[in-house]
Amino acid sequence: MSASINHELNQPLTAIRSYADNGHLLLDRERYGDVRGNLRKIAEMVDRMATIGAQLKQFARKTTGHCISVSLVDSVAASIGILGSKLKNVGVEVENRIPRDSSLNVQADPIQLEQILINLISNAANAVKEQSERRIEVSAETVGNRVVVRVSDNGPGIPEDRLEQIFEPFFTTRETGLGLGLSISQRIAQSMGGTLNARNSIDGGAVFSLELCAASDQQDAPETGTAA
Ligand code: ADP
Repeated sequence: MSASINHELNQPLTAIRSYADNGHLLLDRERYGDVRGNLRKIAEMVDRMATIGAQLKQFARKTTGHCISVSLVDSVAASIGILGSKLKNVGVEVENRIPRDSSLNVQADPIQLEQILINLISNAANAVKEQSERRIEVSAETVGNRVVVRVSDNGPGIPEDRLEQIFEPFFTTRETGLGLGLSISQRIAQSMGGTLNARNSIDGGAVFSLELCAASDQQDAPETGTAA
């Protein structure tokens, strides 16, 4: 990951340097409109670098986080709440299929768990945008001493040859995407002793499975939601 970050930050740095040098020449020639253009490009690149920095800072924070028993249903509800205005804009309601009285507790850092869920639900919202009927579902089931949380949507799904690639840092197919959400989420999941994987459902949409350790205070919980 550090090699891609290095590349992603060095590239704009080199460009900023050359826009600045070129700006001096343009000033000497009194081409003020072009100088303005260079300054705008420099500002855009700085903004992008700052956004990357902010996302990486969140990732760095998680390494110090310690895992406690977290209620999955509350965490999912909080994540849906945080994404409220985005979901409203897209015109989709997330179906939280984890029952309210569920005893599904996972071993996690609560803030980091929300960060993963927010990333997954936000990606699902981006994916269903163009569908006439939009559907996002969150379900969970206990498998032995693990809990599997699934976020599924009825978007176009992920091309089979990209199922691994989407977790690489800076891989994005979105015009305004950074391509850091999934790589950060996967690393956070791993740091909590879990996994994060993607596949397509039989009806075409994407299914992201987050597997975490069940909390030791976990009661015997029945399967909830569909094991898509
Ligand atoms: P970003 O959202 O900035 O592109 P991510 O790392 O979150 O970065 O996602 C990487 C890529 O994975 C997306 O650009 C998209 O191509 C693909 N992807 C993620 N979630 C979904 C989904 N639910 N359905 C289809 N493609 C997805």
